[in-house]
Amino acid sequence: MRSFSALNRLKLLEESGKQHFDLIIIGGGITGAGVALDAAAAGYRVFLCEANDFASGTSSKSTKLIHGGLRYLKNLQFGVVRKTGIEREVLYRNAMHLVRPEPMLLPVIRKGELGMFSTRIALWMYEFLAGVKKDMRFKMLNKESALMEEPLLHKDNLLGAALYTEYRTDDSRLTISVIKKAVELGAVCVNYSPCKGFVKNNSSKIEGIHVIDAFTQKSFTVKGRFIINAAGPWVDDVRHLDDNNLNKNLVLSKGVHLVFPHFKLPVKQSAYFDAPGGRMVFAIPRGNKTYVGTTDTLFSGNPGTAGITRSDLNYLIEACNNMFPDIALRADDLLSSWTGLRPLIAKQGKGTTELSRKDEIFISPGGLISIAGGKLTGYRHMAENVMKKLHQKGLKKKSKAIASRHLKLSGAEFNNEQEIAEFIEQQIGEAKQIGAGEKMIISWVERYGRNTSKIVEIAYELWPQIVEKELVPLFAEINYAIHSEMVCTPLDFWERRTGKLYFNFDKLAEEFELSYPFFCQQLNLNERLITELKYKFYAAMDAVKPSE
Ligand SMILES: Cc1cc2nc3c(=O)[nH]c(=O)nc-3n(C[C@H](O)[C@H](O)[C@H](O)COP(=O)(O)OP(=O)(O)OC[C@H]3O[C@@H](n4cnc5c(N)ncnc54)[C@H](O)[C@@H]3O)c2cc1C
Repeated sequence: MRSFSALNRLKLLEESGKQHFDLIIIGGGITGAGVALDAAAAGYRVFLCEANDFASGTSSKSTKLIHGGLRYLKNLQFGVVRKTGIEREVLYRNAMHLVRPEPMLLPVIRKGELGMFSTRIALWMYEFLAGVKKDMRFKMLNKESALMEEPLLHKDNLLGAALYTEYRTDDSRLTISVIKKAVELGAVCVNYSPCKGFVKNNSSKIEGIHVIDAFTQKSFTVKGRFIINAAGPWVDDVRHLDDNNLNKNLVLSKGVHLVFPHFKLPVKQSAYFDAPGGRMVFAIPRGNKTYVGTTDTLFSGNPGTAGITRSDLNYLIEACNNMFPDIALRADDLLSSWTGLRPLIAKQGKGTTELSRKDEIFISPGGLISIAGGKLTGYRHMAENVMKKLHQKGLKKKSKAIASRHLKLSGAEFNNEQEIAEFIEQQIGEAKQIGAGEKMIISWVERYGRNTSKIVEIAYELWPQIVEKELVPLFAEINYAIHSEMVCTPLDFWERRTGKLYFNFDKLAEEFELSYPFFCQQLNLNERLITELKYKFYAAMDAVKPSE
């Protein structure tokens, strides 16, 4: 496997300048990652550049569900529901440690979006379209059973509930696992290397891109046959680098999630419930936290600046207090939050909630192939569609191509739940002498799957060198993230590789201060970067609280 170390980035960029790729992909969110994997598995030469960190755009800011989108039935988007519904099972098979079945409670209330009968019909249709297996199908609950399932529910206006199964994931870990698999299969993927422009031939056809290394500002030219624009909310910006006269194709819809201590919003399981204004929101317990989301409002500013506002906060808190009246959730209970932008395909006269979540491919006269819309859940399908388009445009099919449908992601070489449990047991045993207890091993397996054993190995190597023995497991994880997951900045690690910015916010500053010298030493950071990256880390900690 090619090295996927942060220390190797410049070398990868330099070498890529001397090659000719079959595919160049701009954007390292789930869409670009999926295309890179599909193409690498087929045996094509692939280069992917990401302007910031992998998954730093929408792909770390979703509701973190692998789902068919029950609400899309309302807009009659049967195709989206069917494709994404079926995909849940495929992703569960291919990333079992990351895509976990999640029971979901759907309370039915008086004057709510759905009544008992329409809920039954909607779920029947949802599961029929998604091909859900018999033992996973929904059940309807009367009022008493619903209250036993979730005693926090509003007793006065409750009619009953439905209990069905969704899948939860960690979106940024899913993205990085797809990218790592693509790298294992030969793709070159580099973060912090924005595409700044295109190389065109005499007939104005695109035959390469200009990228820069964001840390040194060194520039490189990378040539390739097909150029894919998978820049999510920035798709139109990248299209404008090709041709400034192209019409805008995207509208951005902002979605906010809030994180609370679980004891402040102590739902027994995930719930999907009515919110003011006819929307529905999720409340999802995760460890000792519960997160809630999402909003859906038009966003027209610079995508890099989207953040949480007071009114986002108030809206979601009101939704929770309406459904669970005894909890009296307050703004100062908020621990953390994230804000994402849905890149949706514009249609005249339609609001963001009405717009289809369907993906679309559009090709510019210069040959830039842009893909946008869609969902995290549908990334593999989107990649297949891109590959089909490339074959139509003359890319020769490879006889030894491996279909991504059958490809387990990096670290996901499990065939059933029993194998995961056995692996955890084995690693707990292995890690006894390096101070990593059961809780830590479980969290590593949830994040890294079978790659956990590599972190344990690193911990054994570090053990004699580190004086503060209790820090060895954390240092081992940081070492692995830098040298095997291209972590370049603190936020890459604490936000996207581990999710701690959102879910361990209370202990974050302390952990960061204890390990930052080790982090900087591993990356050979200079004084300027040490200060700059630390500043950015604390700015990101501030940004999880709302602006006025
Ligand atoms: C609030 C919210 C909740 C959601 N919940 C779910 C859910 O639960 N389940 C689900 O299936 N889907 C969900 N989605 C949808 C899903 O998250 C998105 O469809 C998906 O993440 C989009 O991925 P992407 O790769 O297209 O975009 P992004 O993840 O934004 O990736 C695009 C990347 O391109 C990079 N880029 C931009 N310009 C350049 C450049 N010039 N050069 C190089 N790189 C560049 C960016 O830095 C970015 O990392 C949700 C979306 C939102 C907003």
